[in-house]
Amino acid sequence: MERFLNLKYLLFNNLLSRWLHLLPFTGVLITFLSITAGANELKEQEYNKADSIAFSKNYMVSAANPYAVRAGLEILKQGGTAADAAVAIQLVLNLVEPQSSGIGGGAFLLYYDGLNRELVTYDGRETAPEKTTQKLFINKNGVPLKFINAVVGGRAVGTPGTLALLETIHKHHGKVEWKDLFESSIRLSEGGFTVSKRLHDYLRGNYGNYLRTFKTARNFYFPGGQPIKNGDLLKNLSFAKTLKLLSKEGVKVFYEGSVADGIENTVKNSAVNPGLLSKSDLKKYRVIKRPPICHYYRKHKICGMGPPSSGAIAIGQILGMLENFNLSELGPKNTYSWHYISEASKLAFADRNKYVADPDFVKVPTQELLNSHYLKTRAKLISSKRSIFTPAPAGNPKPKISRIYSSDPGESRSGTSHISIIDQYGNAISMTTTIEGPFGSQLMTNGFLLNNELTDFSFAPSRDGRLIANRVEPLKRPRSSMSPTMVFDNDDNLKLVIGSPGGARIIGYVVKTLIAVIDWNLDIQSAINLGHVVNRNGNTEIEFSTDAMKFANRLESLGHKIKIRKLNSGLHGILVTNDTITGGADPRREGVAQGN
Ligand code: GLU
Repeated sequence: MERFLNLKYLLFNNLLSRWLHLLPFTGVLITFLSITAGANELKEQEYNKADSIAFSKNYMVSAANPYAVRAGLEILKQGGTAADAAVAIQLVLNLVEPQSSGIGGGAFLLYYDGLNRELVTYDGRETAPEKTTQKLFINKNGVPLKFINAVVGGRAVGTPGTLALLETIHKHHGKVEWKDLFESSIRLSEGGFTVSKRLHDYLRGNYGNYLRTFKTARNFYFPGGQPIKNGDLLKNLSFAKTLKLLSKEGVKVFYEGSVADGIENTVKNSAVNPGLLSKSDLKKYRVIKRPPICHYYRKHKICGMGPPSSGAIAIGQILGMLENFNLSELGPKNTYSWHYISEASKLAFADRNKYVADPDFVKVPTQELLNSHYLKTRAKLISSKRSIFTPAPAGNPKPKISRIYSSDPGESRSGTSHISIIDQYGNAISMTTTIEGPFGSQLMTNGFLLNNELTDFSFAPSRDGRLIANRVEPLKRPRSSMSPTMVFDNDDNLKLVIGSPGGARIIGYVVKTLIAVIDWNLDIQSAINLGHVVNRNGNTEIEFSTDAMKFANRLESLGHKIKIRKLNSGLHGILVTNDTITGGADPRREGVAQGN
């Protein structure tokens, strides 16, 4: 369809330029310019403001921005696979939602091959540069840096993995030619896209204040000193140039060529916190194919991303403990449902903070943490009378390992995006993609922003004489909370594709949606909409301005320390029932779900 439109547009362009020769009226030129711009414009109402439920028989995309969803649908319409669509979607997201994800960052991806009924996971997480030491975030006086001082500039930039990941899935699972996957992103970068309210709000808020202290980003996002406004048409010609190079030469230009030069120079010469990332790090970067982590919950198989993500283990532990409580009978309106969910989450975070890190560097006791006897013992700590005192201590799933490590909760900001796709062949993708904090490190090169993912490491290497599993080490991948997830029913048929941004709260957002679908039988959109109650082994956070606020007093009387706040998930999900594919997108952000 897009090719067809482009062809028509080219013919029209050609004819018009001949007429322009004959007609020296500027009025014609003005009309022409607005026609070309119009092709890329998006009306405000196309952004998700409420529910975005969509039904389809063949394929579906749910992602954070309507431009990106459109780009994915164009590819699926041409007969492309979920892998092809993911490439096109990610490239457009980089342009239109630059605060959240892009080729300067990293990602985790679950790929379900519908024909062979096989699930694999790809780890495109950033790595610490080879020259990094464990003192990366320790100041001259031996004290860990303040989080915000570590985020900005080159210090926290890890070697980006997203492009290598896209290339890998395209090679293994793609059908459409690589260069054709760049059409939408190049057209939008060159012709401009309508800036969304969310991007504008970020630019004019606190995050924008950091961003504007960095020259390249300031010149681009704050022309004349003012943030780009929503509704403005924004072009990104440097990014268009990068995209064209990538489309013609492949990702080598990013990992070894001129783009690599730009990355190295930008990180090294950052005015604040110059960093260590070098061309040799980029050249050495490798995507890792890892087995999915799967566990059973009420006859469903829940699969996700294993370490270095803590997502699948924590979700598996929470649900494993909740098997011991009858949530479906209690239902979503009963305070006890939320009490048990919060308590299980508290205990899972205690283990996560102590045991989960990059498995190529530390021994993660994954099987022991997910063992049903262990989880039964942990569930026995949950009482209907009184909330567990926080922070709850970690359990002891494997004494040899328990003795080595000390806990560290880590801190992360929230600049991430989630993409869910099902194609017409029955393949599916669940991909969570990030540059870490909003606008990442704030450093921009070749039209895109670089991540600050290394702040997902523990800043201190040890505590109370014990090592911290998630401490900084050269070439290590920082622990993540990203939780791209797929659910299979009792007959092993794909039932649900889901994930969200939101820092460590991602785990709670995904758990709630899984319970809402599996225990409470909600449709995907209602499951996403349901108010959040999240506990990361601290306060019980309740989503402001939702029905969940009704549980606050009762939870408090059970001993929960309550905090009511906005909880800005970005859940994008697809549910398969009989022969219908239903997509849902989080009304808390701007994404949409759309099928054919
Ligand atoms: N960097 C975080 C992680 O990998 C994600 C941040 C977010 O979700 O916004 O866990």
